[in-house]
This record gives sequence, C-alpha cells and structure tokens, in this order.
Amino acid sequence: MSYNQKMYGLGSKRSIIREIFEYSKTRAAEIGAENVYDFSLGNPSVPAPCEVNDTIRELLDTQSSVLLHGYTSAQGDAGVRGIIADRINARFGVGISPNLIYMTCGAAASLSICLKALVEDGAEDECIVFAPFFTEYRVFIENAGAKIVVSQPLEKTFQIDVCDLESKITPKTKAIIVNSPNNPSGVVYSEETVKALCELLERKSAEYGKPIYLIADEPYRELVYSGVEVPYLMNYYDNTLVCYSYSKSLSLPGERIGYIAVSPKMADGTNIYLAVCGAGRSLGYVCAPSLFQQVIARCIDAKVNVEAYKENRDILYDNLTAFGYECVKPDGAFYLFVKALEDDAYKFFERAKKHEILVVPCDDFGVSGYVRIAYCTDKSRVEGALPAFRALAEEYGRI
Ligand code: PLP
Repeated sequence: MSYNQKMYGLGSKRSIIREIFEYSKTRAAEIGAENVYDFSLGNPSVPAPCEVNDTIRELLDTQSSVLLHGYTSAQGDAGVRGIIADRINARFGVGISPNLIYMTCGAAASLSICLKALVEDGAEDECIVFAPFFTEYRVFIENAGAKIVVSQPLEKTFQIDVCDLESKITPKTKAIIVNSPNNPSGVVYSEETVKALCELLERKSAEYGKPIYLIADEPYRELVYSGVEVPYLMNYYDNTLVCYSYSKSLSLPGERIGYIAVSPKMADGTNIYLAVCGAGRSLGYVCAPSLFQQVIARCIDAKVNVEAYKENRDILYDNLTAFGYECVKPDGAFYLFVKALEDDAYKFFERAKKHEILVVPCDDFGVSGYVRIAYCTDKSRVEGALPAFRALAEEYGRI
C-alpha cells in the first residue's frame, strides 16, 4: 500500500467520543433531541462573552483587510504577543517577554508543536502523562516520535501519585504533560501536589544531568469553581512550557486560537523557543488565525459565565451521589468522572444508553471502570436526565 498506514489507522478509527456523538445525532433524529441525554462532547455550551462578538463586528467595520485576514509573522503578531505577555506577567509575575510567546491554533496544535520541539530524532524519548488523560495525548506524543508512559493517580482523589511517577521516570524521560483542571476528572492539582511533582523533576533532572521538561496543558485554566487556585507551573519549575487555549476559556473552540509560552527562567529558553518556531514551521502551524489574534488582544480580560457550569456540576454531583454513584467532586473544567456501576465501563455505557444517557467510557483515558459526563450542556438537559440516572441506579440496585 502506498500511503501511511499509521495515519490511515488514525483517520479510519474514530475516537469513542466522536462515535458516541454521531450516535447521539442519529438517535436525536429518531426520538427527538430533547429525549437524548448526550453528555459525550466537551463542546462549551456557555456562549462566548458579548465583548468577543462586539469586537469582531467592530474590527470588521474599522480595520484593514490585511490586519484581519492577512498573514502575521509565523509566531504571531508582535503587538498581540506583547499584550498576552503583559497579561501573563500581571497575573503570575513571571517576567515573560513577547519573544517567548508563539501563537497557535489551540492547545492541540500547541501540544504537537511543543512535543516536536523537544523530542529528539532516534533518541527513544519518553513522555509521561497522568491518568486519567486526554486521549489525544497518545496521538500527539507518538506522532512526535516518542513513547507514551502512563502514571497512575492516587485512588479516590485523582491527584498525581508522585511515588508512581518516580517509578516511571527514566533517563529517556524527555517531558511530562500536566493537565489541570483535568479532562476527564475535573480535578485541579493542589499546590502541595505541584510542589512535590516539581521537586521530583528537579531531583531527577539533576540525577540524569539533563532537563525533564514540563508541558502545562491549560485549556481549562479559567474554568474553576469557588475561587480554587490553579498553580501557574512556571512559578514552580523553570523548564516549563505552557500550552494555553481560548477554546474553553472564551468558548471559541471552532476559531482555533491559543498560544505557547516558554518560561523565561528556562535554561536555554531562547533556543527552545526557536525549536518551537521550527516545530511550528515543520508542522505547518504558522500564523495562527489573524482575525482571532486581534480579537484575543482586545478581549484579554473577557470571561465566560463559569457559574452556569458550576450550577450543572452541583445539580449532577448532588443528585448522582444521592443515587449511589461515586465520583470525585470536580473543582474545574466541565467534566464529572463517575465510577461505573459495574467493573466494565463499556457494559455500563451500553446499559446507560438504554436509558438514553450518553456518557464516555474512560478506558482510553488510562483508567478503567469509569465514565466521563461532559456537563457543558443546557441546565434543562442536566435536570431532564436525572430521572434516567435514577432509573439506571435502581436497575443496579443502588437505591
Ligand atoms: N487538552 C485537553 C485536556 C483538552 O480537553 C482539549 C480539548 O478538549 C485540548 C487539549 C485541545 O484543545 P483545543 O481546542 O484548544 O485544541
């Protein structure tokens, strides 16, 4: 066969989330969308802030076609990067310069670029992720030519198990991806966890005489409840690259906009930034969407209504735990990670489906026996699903 079989495999085998989402559309056509409780996809339900739409209109009415639709520098417009750097410095005090910011098409592109920039050809590099993890990490890591290594979390809390991590670090470890707030658990890694993690990475880097890089995947940074703090990893570990995205923080997943920030404290940071530029170039991720670079620069302080997600979280968490389901109370993102009511999460998923509840079995996320409920949906759907969740729990003899 004269084409890449690995790529064929990726393209022909849809992710389970997409499979369920497609099923949901078919089912909605059969019985009406209001009767399908689809919690499969992490597509933000809260609208983008009004400022975003107003800014787009204003830009279209007042700015030149070249500014809005032309190419920017490969790494992004210098003015936009300056505004982002100022905002990062004001919030986290890291002293980053615009020359360490690279504009990208969202966190997926940012992760692919960072991995490509770090992983060395033929070196058998390894990249560690923490279960449960966003399934696409496997694709991005393997595509960069590295091996994925999975570290298991602490039971019940789903915080990082630093002892397990230590057992997984080897001289081949090139990078570690940390995602907090986490998809799919909704857990925010505590400052205590972060400090223990970074102390271990410092120690292991010194022991092996080479840096282990920390990639902070932060599309959910702004989606936290009740004032929970998400530690900014650059302030804890010098060899950090942050992958930020506006997909969830401003409800703009279809616009493909985000950035990479390389820590100013990183040894060799300028060269790593140049490797980021080279990786962006080699992957074709240059010049992120110009219009949205301008929108972001003007809406740097805009926020979505996080309270709407919190309301859904509270309704689901309170009711599901009352029905006998077990789950950790999420502090952020818009996912509830629920223990299936039988060992096999796929079988549980099939039984839930009979009640028109669509959740995602999480074996591919690195933890078996759990399902993910994406509650980024209308409150009416969350409330409408409660009798079905109750009936399902009754079927399992939980109530
Ligand atoms: N990382 C995580 C943990 C995600 O959940 C997602 C999307 O759902 C991404 C990265 C990719 O986000 P983006 O839309 O910014 O590419």
